[in-house]
Amino acid sequence: MDSKSEVNMAKINPTLFNSIYEMKCPRCREGELFDTTIFSFDKSFEMRERCSECSMNFSPEPGFYYGAMYVSYAIWGGISLVLCSILILVFDWNLNQSFALLFFVSIIFFVWLFRISRTLWIHANIKYRPNYIKELTQKNNQKLEN
Ligand SMILES: [Zn+2]
Repeated sequence: MDSKSEVNMAKINPTLFNSIYEMKCPRCREGELFDTTIFSFDKSFEMRERCSECSMNFSPEPGFYYGAMYVSYAIWGGISLVLCSILILVFDWNLNQSFALLFFVSIIFFVWLFRISRTLWIHANIKYRPNYIKELTQKNNQKLEN
């Protein structure tokens, strides 16, 4: 298998990791969850309403993303603990120095954390359906024929 067809295979059937890393729709893994990149200051906290590929509603119910707060808390709690432990135990920093660095790291990754938490939450709740778009077009074609 040459590298070009491997790239095509990855595009046809993206892994869960790739889908979360690239913040894609959980159902088809093709449409984007967010309009802008994490370092653009435009629409940082706005999600798309629907998937551009399979038209999945990204807000299935009111308050759906409250659970993402727990994901965010767990991720950032873990990162903070590891970062401060390394700084204090390995590099011999004091608590104030390590908290100051943690504060700046938090500012830099704030948008990323918000988005990755929502992405993980929606991926945990919505099942991947690799043939969904194909099924949808077949259904629509059948409707047109009848
Ligand atoms: Zn989709």
